[in-house]
Amino acid sequence: MTSNPTTPGAWANFLSKAWGRDRFPIDVKLIAQDISSRQPDPIAHIRGGDIGELEGMLLKREKGWYLLYNDQVQSSGRINFTIAHELGHYLLHRKEEDAFRCSTEDLLDWGSTVRQREADADKFAATLLMPLDDYRKQVESAKVDIDLLGACADRYGVSLVAAIRQWIEFTPLRAVLVVSNDGFINWSWSSRNALRTRARFRFSKETIPVPEASLAAQTIRHPDERTGIELPARVWFKEEPADMSLREMRVVSDQYELVITLLILPDREPWEKNDDEEDELLVDTYTNFIRNGQHPY
Ligand SMILES: [Zn+2]
Repeated sequence: MTSNPTTPGAWANFLSKAWGRDRFPIDVKLIAQDISSRQPDPIAHIRGGDIGELEGMLLKREKGWYLLYNDQVQSSGRINFTIAHELGHYLLHRKEEDAFRCSTEDLLDWGSTVRQREADADKFAATLLMPLDDYRKQVESAKVDIDLLGACADRYGVSLVAAIRQWIEFTPLRAVLVVSNDGFINWSWSSRNALRTRARFRFSKETIPVPEASLAAQTIRHPDERTGIELPARVWFKEEPADMSLREMRVVSDQYELVITLLILPDREPWEKNDDEEDELLVDTYTNFIRNGQHPY
């Protein structure tokens, strides 16, 4: 190869094109072996193991790079994402470091360089596994709900959370993903138009309880929770008009004791932004998220 791509998105798009866009889920192990074999320092091993709290590692050894993923994780979708994330480090960052140890733990202690690298690797992984042009086609003619996004998660071989997160990246709708447990928001992710209208949670700055009147807070299952129930928008967002409703969907993940909530709000005019919020909106959303101290997956 004469010249390699340099950005996460360019690398992912290059690989998608080279390995065929219509074959899903992407065989990320095959791609990792194939693309790295064309480099002077290939990935020699890709293997699972018990690596404790870590999700994945990429280590330089004499015989090449070792890509390790935590195979104690039950979800094959999370494993796929981890392999793609480590491949992202290999392609983008291996000249800078000899070892990458990646977890989903709190990242607040990390320096800005490491945070940027983690954001890059996540962006690479999401773009490689869930190319936006294909994803748009999957959702353009249907009402978006958990069943549809779950089908996309199956198509791309990723977790439901990763699939929702990537949909939020491109949807023009006001949409907010909320992951909570024990009645408090762990983290949340808002679409661009949701951010513009302040439909978002500052979960890294304050402890935010799940609203009592929300579907997320209910202990019994609701028959329509995957397609959504209508609620006053103010149940979740105090600044929304009194007569506005939103659609709330929910999945309870017993395995991880998490409640995954998707909120979709009707359109409205953006708020006038003050300087702080202008800054917040202009920062690349992945970077912004990692800056807030959480991995999105
Ligand atoms: Zn990483």
